[in-house]
Amino acid sequence: MAEKPEYCHDPLPEAPKGFRLHDALAATVDDKKHYHCGKLEFEDRKSYREFVSNQLAIGGTPQQLATLYAVETTGKPPQMDPVKPAPAGTTTEKLLDVSDKKPDHNGYYHLGTLRVKETEFAQFAELQKNICDKNPEARDTLYHMEHAPEPVTFRVTKDNDRNDRFDPNNNTIYWNPHTAVRDGGNHSRVPPSTAALHEETHWAIRGTVGDTLGGIPDKKYTDWNEKAVIDGVETRDLKLRGLDARDTHHGHVLPVTELDSVAPSLTVKQNGTEREVRAPFKQSGRVIEVNEKTGTTTIAVRGEGNLPEHRMEFKTEQLKWAMGSKEHQTDVLLEGAKSHKDTISLQITNDGRVVYENPAQEQRLHDHPLPGVKFPKPMEPDITPVASTPAKELASAGADRWR
Ligand SMILES: [Zn+2]
Repeated sequence: MAEKPEYCHDPLPEAPKGFRLHDALAATVDDKKHYHCGKLEFEDRKSYREFVSNQLAIGGTPQQLATLYAVETTGKPPQMDPVKPAPAGTTTEKLLDVSDKKPDHNGYYHLGTLRVKETEFAQFAELQKNICDKNPEARDTLYHMEHAPEPVTFRVTKDNDRNDRFDPNNNTIYWNPHTAVRDGGNHSRVPPSTAALHEETHWAIRGTVGDTLGGIPDKKYTDWNEKAVIDGVETRDLKLRGLDARDTHHGHVLPVTELDSVAPSLTVKQNGTEREVRAPFKQSGRVIEVNEKTGTTTIAVRGEGNLPEHRMEFKTEQLKWAMGSKEHQTDVLLEGAKSHKDTISLQITNDGRVVYENPAQEQRLHDHPLPGVKFPKPMEPDITPVASTPAKELASAGADRWR
């Protein structure tokens, strides 16, 4: 019997006796040169061979065979039911209780098998309260992370790392509380809270089932590991939040300030009072000071109509992000500034699109960045492809099908 991953209520049906990896990988070719493994279809030889090399790397475990048998007979990923429920009486408060715990010598709290840095614990706990309150699946997943067969680590990343991911090599989830994702297809949004549950679910289906599904390419969602996570728990969670499901697995990250937010925002000090500015927002101004000590940049903003000019103080870090991410089509646009004396225009669009009013000006901005402002490297959302091993010759391709 295939081993039951935490994420499935029911174990996958066993593959029939005598069903080998060789059988699962054998393909027939139709007159359009499409490759078929049962109901799995590959549009060209390259994608078929990639599938084969990914599956060969896993090596033919019973779980892999059960997964492949299931997907080749149905043409669909196995149904990813909600994670097994936590035992009755489990509460989020109990799962997050560290009152009698001390961090280890590396600064980690141990919640059963789950390790969380003491310095990141407040943000972690705020996240878990948020997602567990809204979605019982999240609480069940948290329970399983604390009662896993092997240790799992949850890291809260800084803003120079906006690539949320689950890394199976060190069994660690990396999550940035200030990153939402805007879908590249239907432009739906995934807030930081749902993105965390997405990565936790990659953890929940880790191992053979996740790897096997990851080796199956998908036009819409990169691969079937992503498809299982996005069509399953992520879509259910977005629905609970009144948000649309996404329909691709690419897009770009949005800098946001709250766990539930899906609109970009900047915190600014206006005439000494801190306030958050949300899209749509458009202001023109000139940079009058970049203060390295306080980490702030002051911009004088032209008043509209008869209003006088006023000063806005931005956290330079956010401006760096805004500027650096501009060329990667994020939502904050600083354009036209050649030096700190120049007038700049700050624009955040409401639907997350960048409006290029004057591409030539933007180019100049890049050539002459503001003093003390560096452009960070682009950060892509979780779109790491499954590692592929060198393709082996498939002597058995086209061999007899298993049924
Ligand atoms: Zn993912």
